[in-house]
Amino acid sequence: MHELSITQHVLKIVEEHAQRAGAKRVTVIHLVVGQLTGFVDDSIQFYFDLLSPGTMAAGALLDIERIPAQLQCRACGQEFALEDKQWVCPRCYAVGGDVVRGREFSIESIEVDQEESHRLPTGEAGTPSRASGDGPDTQEQKR
Ligand SMILES: [Zn+2]
Repeated sequence: MHELSITQHVLKIVEEHAQRAGAKRVTVIHLVVGQLTGFVDDSIQFYFDLLSPGTMAAGALLDIERIPAQLQCRACGQEFALEDKQWVCPRCYAVGGDVVRGREFSIESIEVDQEESHRLPTGEAGTPSRASGDGPDTQEQKR
């Protein structure tokens, strides 16, 4: 289970940054996860829910941005998206390629509670943020 160790790692980094900022608690954690890491969002969330109680990140929202895989052909230099796990260049049909994007895993930033909400860049390597509209934050009660 890779997700267990990376979630432990995330919690450790997040707490370090939050403490350094003098925060009381962490409200949102922005993660960037490449497609090729094999990390499953639900698993990260599962371990986070398991490990975060008792830490400064207890109850924080995990905001996970997925980065689709992008490859570059070694033969002709063409960049192409990884589709259906086919590592084949669409231009020259060479098999394989170098990974341009998709192996990212970074804690892009965290949001913490001080007197007011602050967004802290963590300084971890990452790509620019893009808003992702997925993930239900509220659930309506149905009867
Ligand atoms: Zn090619």
